[in-house]
Amino acid sequence: MAVRTYSLRADGDRLLAPNFRVREFASRCGADRILICDNLIRTLQRIRDHFGVPVTISSGFRTEAHNRRVGGATNSQHLRGTAADITVRGVAPLAVAQFAEHLGMGGIGLYATFTHVDTRAARARWDQRSGRPVNVSGFPGFAPPPQPTPPQPPPPPPIQNTPQQPQEDNSMTEAQVRAIVREEIQNVLSGNGTEPSPWAREEFAAAMAAGITDGTRPLGYATRQEMAIMTLRATQ
Ligand SMILES: [Zn+2]
Repeated sequence: MAVRTYSLRADGDRLLAPNFRVREFASRCGADRILICDNLIRTLQRIRDHFGVPVTISSGFRTEAHNRRVGGATNSQHLRGTAADITVRGVAPLAVAQFAEHLGMGGIGLYATFTHVDTRAARARWDQRSGRPVNVSGFPGFAPPPQPTPPQPPPPPPIQNTPQQPQEDNSMTEAQVRAIVREEIQNVLSGNGTEPSPWAREEFAAAMAAGITDGTRPLGYATRQEMAIMTLRATQ
């Protein structure tokens, strides 16, 4: 993480992120020198973007003198430009802490009226809403909204007529298919010897028209040419 030095006079109006200017991080004692961590800026903008309302920095960088005056810790992250105490308009400090937890901030402190966030490397969590710091394990509770599932590609078309393909558990075995075909053929042949079964009448009429049968010998042989004609019709 990079901490940069800014000048309140020279850089005060400079935008560090879409919603944050240098002056917002300045020590409240009015010192010109300001330290600001790049990572802190990025994190505050993410908080701003997430809640969609103004984020106010009540304390950003602090000089040693100012830190002593406000009773800050001697090794406060505010001295390094890596911390900010923030309020998010209309959002409870706990909800801000929970979102900061989701972002994986190094340090998060929960206070009655604001939330402290910092970019330290080691993890630190405390709850100071009672006025005294109480170490806590974290601020769970933020659940990111579910992402819409992208449209699924259509399933590949089924593979047809590949005898080498192993049979799926839920598909018919070859023996079952043969049994069904055999049954259908026997249905065709189950007429009275001169008439086809009712459902085969259309095919019978077509066979009559093609000269393949005259209806007198339903069990008679077909020539190769007649088979070809029937096959062609079946596949049209
Ligand atoms: Zn703080």
